[in-house]
Amino acid sequence: MRPRKIVVIGGGPAALSSAIYGLRAGHKVVLVERESVGGQIATSPLVENYPAFPKGSGLELSNAMFEQAMSLGAEMEPDEALSLERQGNGFLVHCQYSDIEADAAIIATGAKHRKLAIPGERENVGKGVYYCAVCDSFQVEGKRAIVIGDGNSAVQYAIYLSKTAKEVEVCTLFDRFFAEKGLVDALNAIPNVRIRHGIASKRIDSLGDSLSVVFEKKETRETIAIACEGVFVAIGQVPDNARFRNVVDLDEKGYVIADEGMRTRTPGVFAAGDCRKKEVRQVVTAVNDGAIAALSADRYLSALPQS
Ligand SMILES: Cc1cc2nc3c(=O)[nH]c(=O)nc-3n(C[C@H](O)[C@H](O)[C@H](O)COP(=O)(O)OP(=O)(O)OC[C@H]3O[C@@H](n4cnc5c(N)ncnc54)[C@H](O)[C@@H]3O)c2cc1C
Repeated sequence: MRPRKIVVIGGGPAALSSAIYGLRAGHKVVLVERESVGGQIATSPLVENYPAFPKGSGLELSNAMFEQAMSLGAEMEPDEALSLERQGNGFLVHCQYSDIEADAAIIATGAKHRKLAIPGERENVGKGVYYCAVCDSFQVEGKRAIVIGDGNSAVQYAIYLSKTAKEVEVCTLFDRFFAEKGLVDALNAIPNVRIRHGIASKRIDSLGDSLSVVFEKKETRETIAIACEGVFVAIGQVPDNARFRNVVDLDEKGYVIADEGMRTRTPGVFAAGDCRKKEVRQVVTAVNDGAIAALSADRYLSALPQS
């Protein structure tokens, strides 16, 4: 059988795992990544739950995956996939700068940071409003930081920032965290962290060199303004798959629906990782999906008529 080409949309753990399995099955694999390789995990300061990788940064973990995929012959296309459509017996990925033809496609687009959607947020992105602690912690070195959110990411962000910031205020909408107990215990033990539960962010005002984040206390409706040099938003992720609706079904939140073999409704199109409807979104489940998607793609390609 002549080598077939698999196009993988994304460059995170699911995509890199797909590439490793696809290449080892004897296919050509091209990865299309619109930002930087590694996906979300590359922004995590500390990963402690990936088997055989007891403790290290997300960047170290994703770099190791990337190097493994490249050493096996993966091709990288730094571009944004705008659409995916059938073309003859194969597929065409239309990107911002080029078009890529392939025999099978794996969608591994992950998810993006959710925005607060309050006045002053968009205007101050990169100028005090950040979504990645490990990327932007230097902005608040020796200064005041606010973290908005109540899940694992928010707690991890706060722990990370507390190491270099003067003080960190963690602000949650409800009266508790929805994060792993071990992480919350670790956060509670940090002296320069203050936790404020039950407040809703309403507005971000720029004060020149600093910001004022205006919150409303849920119980009393009282308004409070907290000054800081950086506000880190960690309120979850949203998928970005609407552009593939012509070939895959999406659930009500926009996640791709795929079966246990990562097959979507279009034969030859597979989905892997955080972009698909699933219960647990972690690196270990993303790489699991990637492996299955690539092996399903291999089975699909093996059954195609020889040209
Ligand atoms: C701060 C933080 C900490 C975390 N900590 C942990 C942890 O400790 N342990 C753990 O297991 N998990 C952790 N996670 C979750 C983990 O990072 C994700 O589950 C995992 O990265 C999902 O991998 P993925 O490949 O499915 O998607 P992603 O990592 O989201 O990668 C998708 C990639 O696709 C690219 N892309 C999207 N659309 C397009 C397009 N149209 N064209 C081209 N490229 C596109 C994106 O730029 C992105 O790089 C953490 C996440 C965050 C944000």
